[in-house]
Amino acid sequence: MTTDVHDSWDREHLWHPYTSTINPLPTYKVERAAGARLTLIDGTELIDGMSSWWCTIHGYNHPRINAAAAAQLGKMSHVMFGGLTHEPAITLGKLLLQLAPPSMNNIFYADSGSVAVEIAMKMAIQAAVSRSGGNHAKSNFATIRSGYHGDTWNAMSVCDPVTGMHGAFGPALPVRFFVPAPRSRFDGEWNGDDIKPLADLLEQKADQIAAVILEPIVQGAGGMWFYHPEYLRQARELCNRHGVYLIFDEIATGFWRTGLPFAWEHAGVEPDIMCVGKGLTAGYLTMSAVLTTRDVADTISRGEAGVMMHGPTFMANPLACAIAIESIKMLMEGDPAARVARMQQIMKQHLEPARELPGVDDVRVLGSIGVVQTRGIVDVGEFQKLCVERRVWIRPFGHNVYIMPPYVIPDEDLKYLCDTLVDLVRISPQS
Ligand SMILES: *Cc1c(COP(=O)(O)O)cnc(C)c1O
Repeated sequence: MTTDVHDSWDREHLWHPYTSTINPLPTYKVERAAGARLTLIDGTELIDGMSSWWCTIHGYNHPRINAAAAAQLGKMSHVMFGGLTHEPAITLGKLLLQLAPPSMNNIFYADSGSVAVEIAMKMAIQAAVSRSGGNHAKSNFATIRSGYHGDTWNAMSVCDPVTGMHGAFGPALPVRFFVPAPRSRFDGEWNGDDIKPLADLLEQKADQIAAVILEPIVQGAGGMWFYHPEYLRQARELCNRHGVYLIFDEIATGFWRTGLPFAWEHAGVEPDIMCVGKGLTAGYLTMSAVLTTRDVADTISRGEAGVMMHGPTFMANPLACAIAIESIKMLMEGDPAARVARMQQIMKQHLEPARELPGVDDVRVLGSIGVVQTRGIVDVGEFQKLCVERRVWIRPFGHNVYIMPPYVIPDEDLKYLCDTLVDLVRISPQS
């Protein structure tokens, strides 16, 4: 067996996310992972700053989750959800409703975050059409710029039109309504001008709009921006006034990532439809869920189709449900709010020195998410090479070098991760 961390067969044949086949970025071969550490094939141990893109909240290879998965495997790993049900789906549903906004009542299990967004958008259209007595005009969407909602067709259509995939897919994408993202910082003063573009849009176009879709508080992959909760409160009022549904995409922000179970709680306003994913299964399997109110669910059921028109093959996969149940139980038994508050404190302190660097525009931390916004764009390949040399795993994107580590990361590792991030930003060239 070769211990080369770069695999040439992989490079020749496997597509990685957003990768060229002509000039692919290097990939590093992982042999195993435990806690907040990844071990490469040559034995190199990396401190994980990414939680495998927001997911592995309890770290890798957790004995309790492993045991829950094994126990479920011994019963059944999957069974169709059409006409059948099972305890894992029911128990998980009960747990989700305990954590979700109080008005949530009905749960649709789906395969991935992007698919959850597709389903949320379908729910909004079915409900809006039903509510208007069959008027299909009210079937478009509004959102803010710099958003990210996934890579499938309709999810792409509500991603940021500049940094998203609107260029590559152009006329093939449905055209949505975009307004500027709020500029008021999460921890700053609220500027009332921020809401005006959305207010104006809904004033003029509400008769064409089924829903506004937002990532509450944290815009993730579209810009790693934390905005003021007042925006959500006013967006909620505007949606109520204009008869437009409000969808919160909590796929990145869920399960205490921002310090609270879900990010809507920073603003105290509830959505009509909510998407969860990523941390839901603690990074073990792909699964997501769409939650909605009794009112939206029943409005859909009174509509033309009479049913919610979606039904994935792997809906409510019992193995994924069992894993999610164990993960949520562990969160509820522990004190994730205190843990994330401690992570926030360490990250604030140890990322702060980056603010003095000439190549840095901003440093921001919320919950267990730390962001250093660079003036230019960091070369990902070079940066990651340095990361591996320094024994950390960070994947910069655009103008942001950011981390959202597993909650189990030891404090010393988190400090080293932050200090190393700052040092690498200092020495890395930007274009
Ligand atoms: C990652 C993400 C998605 C897409 O989830 P996938 O599981 O990758 O399809 C959607 N919305 C937000 C906010 C995300 O962070």
